[in-house]
Amino acid sequence: MTEAWRPDDDERRGALGPVRVRVPAKVNLHLGVGPLRRDGYHELNTIYHAISIYDELTARRGDTLALTMEGEGTGELALDDTNLVIRAAHALAGYAGVLPHARLHLRKQIPLAGGLAGGSADAAAALVACDALWGTGLSRDELAGIAADLGSDVPFLIYGGTALGTGRGEAISPVLARPTSWHWVVAIADVGLSTPTAYRELDRLRDSGAAGAPLGSTDALLGALRQRDPRVLARTLGNDLQDAALAMRPALADTLKAGEAAGALTGIVSGSGPTCVFLAANAADAERIAAELTAAGVCREARVAHGPVAGARVG
Ligand code: ATP
Repeated sequence: MTEAWRPDDDERRGALGPVRVRVPAKVNLHLGVGPLRRDGYHELNTIYHAISIYDELTARRGDTLALTMEGEGTGELALDDTNLVIRAAHALAGYAGVLPHARLHLRKQIPLAGGLAGGSADAAAALVACDALWGTGLSRDELAGIAADLGSDVPFLIYGGTALGTGRGEAISPVLARPTSWHWVVAIADVGLSTPTAYRELDRLRDSGAAGAPLGSTDALLGALRQRDPRVLARTLGNDLQDAALAMRPALADTLKAGEAAGALTGIVSGSGPTCVFLAANAADAERIAAELTAAGVCREARVAHGPVAGARVG
């Protein structure tokens, strides 16, 4: 049992100044969706990849737990106990036996309900930031254990990089990959899509025989990640949720076509969508494709990113 936190512990435990944590968005290079489990989740076989679009969470000492924010989703996203940042702070405090006191400020660049796991990223950032602020000193594996109860994507965002996710996505194993940086273009839509609705749509398409064949194994992708050739990687990307996202948002087909016409090696829907991600041959191509996508009016905004990058980190 961990000793209880007391205010006069401030000086000897934890950070005195603000703690700033940067956390990336994720894309799924492979999202294999298996059968619906009895607990309501689908069995997943996925390769997560962290990319350089970041949210930033700053944690300061406080007498209560409070959250403020700026950026994507401001005014739409509740800052109360339903916010994943607050839920994560409570979960860590409960685990470590400390009071959940902090003043948290979120600077959000990851779009809401975009299929980029922004909420999960913020939960991972809150675990890492509060761990440093409160001096609870948990290991990444311990933080990932708490993270799994907050959401299926949260453990991956504690680690970052490129990793295999199994179970409902929460069981993470590192992937052996060459230290290559891949160049991505991320096309962000005007309006988000709900993840549970996308899974229900996939179930409906499968029940009616209208879904495409499910993805096979990740072997080809894992092989491609051990090489440096983006053309090889491009042939191995796949997402079982893409049909569902396209059924719910048919205009995404135009976004995918526009990216490929602009020279992307391939494009896929990210997670449950509606964000589309394109693999570019190099950084210059990525810049050009992003400019063309923006000019074509097929998305709200196109940003360049690279990956893999580290997960939630102080600094
Ligand atoms: P995923 O890819 O993990 O399915 P997503 O990127 O599609 O998620 P998120 O932006 O992570 O979607 O958010 C999904 C929902 O989670 C939001 O609509 C919101 O209701 C809730 N949520 C709670 N806290 C947060 C947060 N800090 N940031 C974003 N969403 C949050």
